Amino acid sequence: MIDLHTHTDKSDGSTDAGDLVRLAVREGIEALAIADHDTLAGYDAAAPVAAEQGLELVCAVELSTRPGEAKLNGRRQPSVHLLGYWLLSPPSTEFRCWLESQQESRRRRNVELVARLEQLGVPVSLDEAEVYGRNQVGRPHFARVLCDKGYVANMQQAFDLYLADEAKASVERDEPSLEAGIQRIVESGGMASLAHPVRLPQRGSELAGLLKRLIDVGLQGLEVFHSEHSSADTAEYSELARRLDLIATGGSDFHGDNKPRIRLGTGIDSNISLSYSFLENMREMCAARQHRTSGKR
Ligand code: AMP
Ligand code: ZN
Ligand code: FE
Ligand code: FE
Repeated sequence: MIDLHTHTDKSDGSTDAGDLVRLAVREGIEALAIADHDTLAGYDAAAPVAAEQGLELVCAVELSTRPGEAKLNGRRQPSVHLLGYWLLSPPSTEFRCWLESQQESRRRRNVELVARLEQLGVPVSLDEAEVYGRNQVGRPHFARVLCDKGYVANMQQAFDLYLADEAKASVERDEPSLEAGIQRIVESGGMASLAHPVRLPQRGSELAGLLKRLIDVGLQGLEVFHSEHSSADTAEYSELARRLDLIATGGSDFHGDNKPRIRLGTGIDSNISLSYSFLENMREMCAARQHRTSGKR
């Protein structure tokens, strides 16, 4: 069994990187990819533990990007998540530097968000949010503090009233466009895969059209297997990947206690089961493509 989509407490997971490696070993996972949001810090922290434990660790990241049209019918479009996998060589130093700049933009956003919440009469300090997001503070951490302080009844209400993209305290963050994210990953030697397509507004031929445009920019993969995919979704995305010659990727999107229904390796109610050969196939397909593109030059 393998799991190619997991989060640590370096982004919005609840599990320490070393603990995640030890959990993976206990659960019989043969290869684990840590794909934290906009950071490699979880992977970096896990690498020495994985080496010691004899676990194959795959370097990955999950970028938040803006779709081509930043606004649709005047509404800000939700972020699109993009996975990057480095199966053949590690990410470049340039890519690591660029990720640092993304972290900086998140910190600026958080400072503004603190000011907005204060203005709205529901103050949350950065220190309070950092209790939950020690390494990277995101909106879910603010949501938890809003709950704790009794300003809202639950996490969803925190988003609906204050934190969602169109809600009262919404602050825009300068995320890269989807196309720029793909280019960054590809230039740094990685493969880019569109994460959990089920969350996109597009389906069917509209999704196929979007994917074709992204393939032209360098997209190589589609996350066919994911905890939130029903078996019908998985069948649809699998067929789409086959038709468009995209590499199928997959993983649980484990977040520890922050998303307790999702189990490492097996997803929700065991809806995922990927064998080691799945990763081998991904790696072979990546290598074949690199060979092809270097031949073209
Ligand atoms: P951030 O990266 O700090 O902008 O936070 C993004 C995260 O907030 C997403 O990964 C979701 O987990 C959560 N989120 C964003 N919008 C909503 C929403 N409308 N309802 C519930 N959760 C949301
Ligand atoms: Zn996450
Ligand atoms: Fe995601
Ligand atoms: Fe994720």
